[in-house]
Amino acid sequence: MHEISFTLDLEDHQPKEIKESNYSAITKELLSSLKDRGICATVFILGRLAYADPELVDYIADNGHEIAYHSYQHTPLINQTVSEFVSETEEFKEFIHARCGMEVKGYRAPVFSLTSKSTWVVDCLKNLGFCYSSSVLPAGSPLYGFPSAPKEPFRWNNGIIEFPAPIHKLGPVSIPFLGGIYFRYLPLSLIKRFLRSMKGDHSPWIYCHPHDFDYKQPYFKIPGNSHIVSLLLWFNRKDTNRKLFELIDSGEFKIEKRSFIQQIEEGKFDSLSDYVY
Ligand SMILES: [Zn+2]
Repeated sequence: MHEISFTLDLEDHQPKEIKESNYSAITKELLSSLKDRGICATVFILGRLAYADPELVDYIADNGHEIAYHSYQHTPLINQTVSEFVSETEEFKEFIHARCGMEVKGYRAPVFSLTSKSTWVVDCLKNLGFCYSSSVLPAGSPLYGFPSAPKEPFRWNNGIIEFPAPIHKLGPVSIPFLGGIYFRYLPLSLIKRFLRSMKGDHSPWIYCHPHDFDYKQPYFKIPGNSHIVSLLLWFNRKDTNRKLFELIDSGEFKIEKRSFIQQIEEGKFDSLSDYVY
């Protein structure tokens, strides 16, 4: 198993009328704690948030973290047209380049929605100058899974590198245990056990969202989701920060200090094999 990388999906689903959102302050605090440990995070940002909060974009870039793309407003790929995707993505790349001189080279599809029905995006990414994607859940899922995809990093046949979500198979269920509600609900001892059982060329990565840490946020029904899902996403946030840094600081696992693009540019994934889909 390779070192564990850290990624953040910078999104915010809180309706404006509730109260001012905490996502910006939480992001800065989290990235600052990572920087103190010498860790460069990969931050997948929603276009909508980047345009609304350019100072936060500056903060991320100025502190040495990588800026990557997480769609304009979290629309799953299956609900997007190619032309919509291309124009929104071009706009984001131009914005980030003009704002902080950074070339955006990484992409993560909302809710891991790169499936066998949306592989058109891989060619779009290539044409738009991306190097990698981190958009596949390599398992069956009630939402968006790609069960036939490799579980370890691989190269699409046009050269784009894919970092599939790290999963642990428990009977018939595959759990993307290193992020979101899975990380929040599972005990740290079990997360560590899942990590210890990873063999081979796995490159696990943690994925968090600002709301995973926001235990002061009032409850609201997330647009497009049921009350049950919204409640699941709302509960169990108070311990996220402690668990995350206990895992990072435990010394039991190697933590990758470089962002995804730094790892690629320094040759860590030069020998990946191609996946023909
Ligand atoms: Zn997301």
